[in-house]
Amino acid sequence: MQLIRYQLPIHKIDHIFISHLHGDHYLGLMGLLFSMHLQRRTNDLHLYSQKGLDEIILLQLKYSKSSLNFTIIFHTFDASLIQVLYEDEALTIDTIPLIHKLECAGFLFREKPKPRKINKEKLKEGMLLQHIALLKTGADVHDEKGNLLYLNSDYTLPAQTSLSYAFCSDTAWNEKMIEQIRGINLLYHEATFMEEEKDKAQETRHSTAAEAAEMALRSRVQKLLIGHFSARYRELEPLLLEAREVFANTELAIEGSTFEGGT
Ligand SMILES: [Zn+2]
Repeated sequence: MQLIRYQLPIHKIDHIFISHLHGDHYLGLMGLLFSMHLQRRTNDLHLYSQKGLDEIILLQLKYSKSSLNFTIIFHTFDASLIQVLYEDEALTIDTIPLIHKLECAGFLFREKPKPRKINKEKLKEGMLLQHIALLKTGADVHDEKGNLLYLNSDYTLPAQTSLSYAFCSDTAWNEKMIEQIRGINLLYHEATFMEEEKDKAQETRHSTAAEAAEMALRSRVQKLLIGHFSARYRELEPLLLEAREVFANTELAIEGSTFEGGT
């Protein structure tokens, strides 16, 4: 419902990643699937989760005597391992093993290196299309005898930076993931509690705002978003302040907000 409220086009969603099977992380899914059905979706939908979500969904469809217009392709993963879940020419998505009451995985999204861009202002009349195509790949262009025709850097602009983002919810303090997420642009880390409720955080395998910030600091990420706050906190400012004392470039992940990676 939030997706619709913020006017995000749900027909464009082809891949959904579910970290673990606590209800607050997947109970909205049935509603989303039926909304997609009502919008006459026909494209396959890829659903990545641990074993069990397939049964849960199929059972709900069975007992509501419903079927969907589209096919769901279930991809199950082992949350205790780092696995490549998805890869195409632009990005890879890996699991991040987390520490929680149930088996739980975060997700690391990494854009692959991007090609240099053709600088249209520098292109000369009469340049052959295959030469321009070669420049796009980053190569210099030579004639048949091997003489240099076009030096790549004269005709292209530097590639855009490749961005990286890790989604880590739900988890207790997790030393092991530091290496995996080191230096990424943007980290979303849960901050269910504040330090004064640290006992509660440890008991429920969640993190405090200070721990999320410590993770951002130790793994040298550029920016931190914190979220998944306990309902006990009516005001979120104290959580933000607690995190910012450790890691200044922190923001609250409020639904409907957008953030630029690394700034
Ligand atoms: Zn949970």
